[in-house]
Amino acid sequence: MSRIYDRVALIGLGLIASSMGHAMRRHGLAGHVAGHAQSEATRQAALEIGFCQSVHATAADAVRDADLVVLAVPIGAMGAVAAAIAPHLKPGATVTDVGSVKQAVIEAVGPHVPGPVHFIPGHPMAGTEHSGPYAGFATLFDNRWTILTPPEDGDAAALGRLRSLWQAMGAKVAIMDAAHHDSVVAVVSHAPHLIAYTMVGVADHLAQVSNSEVIEFSAAGFRDFTRIAASDPTMWRDVFLTNKDAVLDILGRFHEELFVLQRAIRMGDGPALFDYFTRTRAIRRGIIEAGQDTAAADFGRAKPDPA
Ligand code: NAP
Repeated sequence: MSRIYDRVALIGLGLIASSMGHAMRRHGLAGHVAGHAQSEATRQAALEIGFCQSVHATAADAVRDADLVVLAVPIGAMGAVAAAIAPHLKPGATVTDVGSVKQAVIEAVGPHVPGPVHFIPGHPMAGTEHSGPYAGFATLFDNRWTILTPPEDGDAAALGRLRSLWQAMGAKVAIMDAAHHDSVVAVVSHAPHLIAYTMVGVADHLAQVSNSEVIEFSAAGFRDFTRIAASDPTMWRDVFLTNKDAVLDILGRFHEELFVLQRAIRMGDGPALFDYFTRTRAIRRGIIEAGQDTAAADFGRAKPDPA
């Protein structure tokens, strides 16, 4: 594959940015990758690992001359970062982000982006429970969806170029509006994370009254919840603060379903439980058939080498 952007600036150098850096290097998609993170330790790690060719003490320095600027910081930091870089953006450049919520990022970042710069919000639907510059790997986006939520009157060429980058990094790209994105991810990602956090919290409470038996004998179901509940606290705090309405809507529906199952259990209604679980099993099969997970136990997600 060949170069898509001459100079890319990654602002934030954690799991997502480092994975983008590795993926761009793997395929030679950028002439130069400049990076900025708030701490010197993270900046040095990025240089040592080699997914950036230069790192900069300020975001303003990192974005100078960049053709593509990727905001890969927690959602709560996006607005301040956008304000800091705005005067230093090259006319004609594209600014994108990888935040897990789109409407809130558009509200925080959009007003700062100057006229001659294209702002194309994005969200790679790929991740792990690990964070920081060492967590990234080149294949994170392979066969996973990246959703772009461009403005209706946005520049088609800039969108086409960003789409090509994501595809060259291994992703499948979907375009949708930001509000629709936020309600889709509330169902497939945000509410499930909240439920996992809750379940682990319940078990933690039980562990304190049963001498840690919950941890000691933890079986697959609970272990899988703990993996999700180990996800980055800053990121997930920001997700729930910024996608509030969509998440609350799904949680309301979740309560209703839970009551249905609770009642079936109380009434000893075996056929109702069997039918329900048969339907949910079919959804799991659909996800495997769509290539969004493997049938292997333990999620089949051993971390590959970061090459
Ligand atoms: P991460 O691994 O925790 O990395 C965050 C990075 O942002 C760190 O390098 C941090 O620098 C830097 N940072 C934080 N505040 C900053 C600021 N004010 N100025 C400059 N740099 C700052 O996070 P991540 O998992 O890559 O997530 C980044 C974004 O991707 C989030 O918006 C998240 O919603 C989205 N996302 C995450 C996932 C996932 O599964 N993790 C999936 C899809 C999308 P220091 O290390 O120096 O603190």
